[in-house]
Amino acid sequence: MSESAAKESPLPAFVEAALPVPLRRSFTYRVPESMRERIELGSRLKLPFGKRNLTGYAVGLHSTLPRDLDVDESKLKDVIAVLDDEPLITPEILKLTQWTADYYASFWGEMLKASLPAGINSEKVRPKRRKAVRLLGSVGSLADTESKAPDKPLTLKQHEVLDLLTASGGQMLFTDILEQANTNASPLNTLAKRGLIEIFIDDVFRDPLRRADLPELNSIILTPEQQAALDAVNSALDAPNAYKGFLLHGVTGSGKTEVYIRAMRHALDEGRSAMMLVPEIALTPVFSRRLRAIFGTDVAILHSNLSAGERYDEWRRIRRGEARIAIGTRSAVFAPLENIGLIIVDEEHDASYRQHESPFYNARDVGVMRASLAGAVVVLGSATPAMESFYNSQAGKYEYLRLPERIEGRSLAKAELIDMREVFKRAGKDVALSDELLEGIDQTYHKGEQVIVLLNRRGFSQFVLCRECGETIKCKNCDITLTFHRRDAKLVCHYCNYRIPSPKTCPSCESEFLYFVGEGTENIADQLAKKFPQIRIARVDRDTMAHKGELDQVLLDFAAHRIDMLVGTQMIAKGHDFPNVTLVGVVGVDIGLGLPDLRSAERTFQLITQVAGRSGRGEKPGRVLIQTYYPEHYALRFAREQDYDGFYREEIKFRERLAYPPFFVLASILIKHRDHAYAMRNANILRRSLDVANAARHLRILGPAPASLSRLKNEYRIQIILKSPSRRSLREILDIALADAEQNGADMRSIYVEIDPVNLM
Ligand code: ADP
Ligand code: ZN
Ligand code: ZN
Repeated sequence: MSESAAKESPLPAFVEAALPVPLRRSFTYRVPESMRERIELGSRLKLPFGKRNLTGYAVGLHSTLPRDLDVDESKLKDVIAVLDDEPLITPEILKLTQWTADYYASFWGEMLKASLPAGINSEKVRPKRRKAVRLLGSVGSLADTESKAPDKPLTLKQHEVLDLLTASGGQMLFTDILEQANTNASPLNTLAKRGLIEIFIDDVFRDPLRRADLPELNSIILTPEQQAALDAVNSALDAPNAYKGFLLHGVTGSGKTEVYIRAMRHALDEGRSAMMLVPEIALTPVFSRRLRAIFGTDVAILHSNLSAGERYDEWRRIRRGEARIAIGTRSAVFAPLENIGLIIVDEEHDASYRQHESPFYNARDVGVMRASLAGAVVVLGSATPAMESFYNSQAGKYEYLRLPERIEGRSLAKAELIDMREVFKRAGKDVALSDELLEGIDQTYHKGEQVIVLLNRRGFSQFVLCRECGETIKCKNCDITLTFHRRDAKLVCHYCNYRIPSPKTCPSCESEFLYFVGEGTENIADQLAKKFPQIRIARVDRDTMAHKGELDQVLLDFAAHRIDMLVGTQMIAKGHDFPNVTLVGVVGVDIGLGLPDLRSAERTFQLITQVAGRSGRGEKPGRVLIQTYYPEHYALRFAREQDYDGFYREEIKFRERLAYPPFFVLASILIKHRDHAYAMRNANILRRSLDVANAARHLRILGPAPASLSRLKNEYRIQIILKSPSRRSLREILDIALADAEQNGADMRSIYVEIDPVNLM
C-alpha cells in the first residue's frame, strides 16, 4: 500500500487468506493492530491452521467484517506475522493464479505457492547482503576530493583507499578494501565521516553465469520468412494493450530463435517486459550465455538446475524491475514481470510444460491466459505443434506463421526406417543394435563427425521374466515391473524408487532361468563401448545426470568434441544445436506406440521429428536411422518424411472419432488410497454425485475403474474420466458434483482432479 492510500482508507482489521491446502475456499483472520500498516494484498502471512502454522497469502482485506463472509468473529484467529516488507505476489499474479486455479479446478493457495520460486520460505534463501563502499562525488579526481577537505590533510592510508576505489570504478566490497589496502577499518570510517565515501549494505546476487565467457554477438540478416514473422509479431506489439496469439510453425533449424530474440528486443524498446518459456531440458548453458550476451543484466534466467539461492536472486531481480526479460522453465510463467508485452512459449508441444503433481497446470496454456488477461502478445513456437495448437490456429484462435525451410537451404535429414523384424530374421535372435546402425556409427566416426543414439528407457533391462513360471518381478508398492540396473546390481522401481538386490533365482518358483528383457540406456551404452572401444561415449539419463551441472558439462564437452557419441533418453532429444552431429540413431522409440494412451502416436511423431532435427544442423548433411517393429505405423511414416500436415490430417480423424481433444475437453479424476475398499467407496459417492449433476447429460462419464497404473507408491488408483464438448459445462458440473460428494461424506483428500490430462495413466 502506498503511503497516501494508507492515510486515506481505513486500515484492514481482517484478512482473507488463501492457504496451500486442498480446500476450495479462503480463510478469514484478524489482523493485530501492529500489523495493519504493513499488510497488503499479496503479502505472505504466517497463520495458525488447525494445530500447525502455515504460510498463506493475503487475497482480501477488510476494515470491517463483510456480512457475506458468514464467519463468527469471536472464533477468528490472529495473523501471527506478515512475512514480507513488500508483497512478493503482484496484483497481476494474484489475478492470474486465481484464474488458473479456477480453470484447472485446483486450489488458489496451492497455485500461489507454486508461482513462487521453490524454497522461498526457507531461511537458506535469504539474500546475501554485504558491506560495500562507494566513492562520493566525481570518480577519478583526487584533487577534487581534497578540495572538499580543507581542514586536515589525508593520511597516506586514506589516500591509498581513495586510489583503490578510483581504480575500481568507484565501488568495492568493504572486505576487499581491507585486504587490498592492508588496513583496518579506521581509515574507511574517517573517510566516511568526512563525507568522502559512503559505507552501505549491498545485495550480492549469485549470478549463475558470472564466470561465463560471453560469446560474440553476431549480426544476422533475417530471411524474408523470418522478417515476415517478426513484422507480424512486432505490429501486434505496437497495438497498445491488445491481446493477440500466434502459432509460429517452423521446422527445426528454421531460425525461430532469431525471431524470438528480436521480438523480445522490440517489446523492451516499447517499454514493456517479455518472457520466454523453454522446455525443462532446453535451457542449456550455451543458450543462456547467448541471451546474457545479447540482453546483459536485463535478462533473468530461471532454470530448474539453479540452486534455490540463485533462483531466488534471479526472481528478485524481476520483482524489482531490474530484469525485464524472464527466461525459464514451467513455473517461470508466473514471474512477476510488470507491464508484460510479450510471452514466447518455445517448443510449445513439450510435455515438460505440464506440472504432474497438484496443482496441475500446463504452462503453455497459462501463458496464453496471462497474455489475454494482460493484453499482451503470445507466440507459441514449434516444429511439431501440439494437435490442439494447430487446430486452434486453423480455427482462427491464433494467427499462423510458418518458417517452412531450414536456414541457408540446409536439408532436413530424412529418416530411414530399419525393420527390426527383418533384423531378427537375419540374426536368428533378438539383437538391440542393427548392422545398419552400427555401420552408420562407424562411418560417421571415421569422418570425424558425431553421433547421438536415443533410447527412451533408462537402466539395463526393462524387466526380469522367469522362463520357468512366466512371472515378472514387480515392485512391492506399485503395479509395475522392476528395472534391472547393472552398475549397482539392483532391481529398481522407476516410480517409487523401491530397490532390491538383483535375485539369482525366481522369487516365485526358485528357478534359475531368469531372463532380462528390453534393453535400457545402460545396456546399449555398454554394447556400444564394447563394439567401438576407440569412440568416446557419454551416457545421458537420470541415473548418470543426477547432480546439478553434470548435464551442462557433458553438453559442453560434446559441443567441444571432447565426446564423440551421446547415448541417452529424451534428455538429449531437444533444443540442442550441435553442427557436427551427422547421425542420429533411434532405438526402441516405438515402445510408446504400444501404450494405451491417446497421445502416443503424437508423442512418437514429435520425438522422431525433433530428434531428426538434431542431425545435420551444420553444413554437413545428416542421417537419421530409426529401428522399429512397426514400420507401417502412420506416425513413423509421416515422421520419416517430416510431413507434419500429413500426420495432422490422419491423427485429427482419430481424435474426432474417439471424442478426444481438441474436440472434447477431458478431465481425469483419480481416487487414491492405501485401502482399496475405502478408495472405491469414495469413487462410488463421487460417481453418484456426478450423475445427479449431469442430469442433462452434457458429459460422458467413464468409470470408476482401476487406472492403467492401478497401484503406485503403495496407493490404489481408481479413475473416473469425464469428456465434455464444452469446457464451461465440464467445470460447472464438476463443481456441483464435488460439493455434493463432500456433503455425502466423500473424503475429498483422496480425490485428485486433473483437467486436460496429458495422458490417461
Ligand atoms: P530454430 O530455433 O528454428 O531451431 P535457430 O534460430 O536456432 O532455429 O537457427 C538455426 C541456426 O541458424 C542457428 O545457428 C542460427 O544462428 C542460424 N540462423 C538463424 N537465422 C539466420 C539467418 N537469417 N541467417 C543466417 N543464419 C541464421
Ligand atoms: Zn519362476
Ligand atoms: Zn514402486
